[in-house]
Amino acid sequence: MRIYLDEEKLHYDIFELVRTFVPREEICFSGEEDLNLAIEYKNRKASLYKEDKKVELSVPYIEEEKLQRRAFKRAVLKLLEGYYKKTSPWGILTGIRPVKIVQELMDQKKDREEILERLTKEYSLSKEKADLLYTIACRQRPYLYPIKEDSYSLYINIPFCPTRCDYCSFPTILYKKRDYRKDYIKTLLREMEAMGKVLKDKKLETVYIGGGTPTSLEKEDLTVLLEGVKEDFGLPVEWTVEAGREDTLSQEVFFLLKEKGVTRISLNPQSFHDKTLKKIGRVQNNDRLIRLYEEAKEIGFDCINMDFILGLPGEGMEDLEYNLHKIKELMPENLTIHTLSVKRGSKFMERQENLGGERDLIGDMLERVHRFIAESPYEPYYLYRQKQILGNHENVGYALPGKENLYNMYMMEERQTVIGLGMTSNSKILYPNENRIENYRNYKNLRDYQNKIDEIIEKKSRLIKGV
Ligand code: SF4
Repeated sequence: MRIYLDEEKLHYDIFELVRTFVPREEICFSGEEDLNLAIEYKNRKASLYKEDKKVELSVPYIEEEKLQRRAFKRAVLKLLEGYYKKTSPWGILTGIRPVKIVQELMDQKKDREEILERLTKEYSLSKEKADLLYTIACRQRPYLYPIKEDSYSLYINIPFCPTRCDYCSFPTILYKKRDYRKDYIKTLLREMEAMGKVLKDKKLETVYIGGGTPTSLEKEDLTVLLEGVKEDFGLPVEWTVEAGREDTLSQEVFFLLKEKGVTRISLNPQSFHDKTLKKIGRVQNNDRLIRLYEEAKEIGFDCINMDFILGLPGEGMEDLEYNLHKIKELMPENLTIHTLSVKRGSKFMERQENLGGERDLIGDMLERVHRFIAESPYEPYYLYRQKQILGNHENVGYALPGKENLYNMYMMEERQTVIGLGMTSNSKILYPNENRIENYRNYKNLRDYQNKIDEIIEKKSRLIKGV
């Protein structure tokens, strides 16, 4: 699809908005000729041209530029909804952290009524999505405030996986030579030691070791990594390790994690259906995964997360019912329900797999999940959205009361400094008094990360020290 838009500064916003209506189509901006769809904004009028037809809407004048842009986006949304004959429950919101908007309105002491009105009128959200955001923001508030300026969290990336799942778009590295992992851990320990020194006057609150699959490391490497965290930064209040893949887990791994001080793990079935897992290239024995879950409980892990994905190929309502039935039996303390997102770099995208037809089904599946949650003790506590997510939906984290994952909330709402360690990891350094966040991303490939580690350490140290 080509779009003609005469105001360049609006390109990104409108691109993201149009993409929610045609997620599988290539969208590009071009000159006036050779158009099959054009959006124009002139003299406070938003127009949509399709071949010979033109539909136009007036946009009210608003002095503040930010609000004027929102008004234009609302007009374009209306035009697109009319043209494609469907509504968009997320309105003009296209960012990945919508709860942040509610947190900011709460910071300005706006009450519930005003916040819901702003969400539904200014951002054109459906009432259900506005309520969901408000509920989540209220749940997070006691954990996020007051902002603990002297505390920080760590994210440590282990980018290795035994095989690659077809939906994966992370820069994961498949098992190759043992030396790859040894060298990586060596560099990572160096980065940890240096950052530990820079952060010595601050208090470590949470650690999240993710990836990739951290439990795919050899026992020896995992041991030095866990010991390194304690030596360089001290013991955190909350320590999560992603133990996502059944084929990398054993009682021995759980004992090691427990012994070193890890408090939470995440086991990620994605689905309990073997036929689906086979289709998405994920190696997993579900019976063993459930046995491992029970063993982890016996070993003393009293907070376990499970990830699921809605919209996996071939799955319908019956498959979802079975997954929900298993969740009810197991009752993990945390539950994360993702909607499939077909991203660049995944095998799904490479194969141009057509998952679009299943989009209405995903809406029904989400409704079923909401009913399941409403009848359960789970409460939603964090939410994020992704580009290319099927049906323009969302990912939601649920928790049993008091079992919310602090790291997930801090990271998603950007209310605490999070230092990323390892290849690809992102650091967010918060300066609450200036209402400012500095981002710093480590190199995205192994060679650069290892070769340029001194440069990374130097730049990141300066940002943390604020010089
Ligand atoms: S386990 Fe996770 S990180 Fe590894 S390939 Fe599968 S989706 Fe990607």
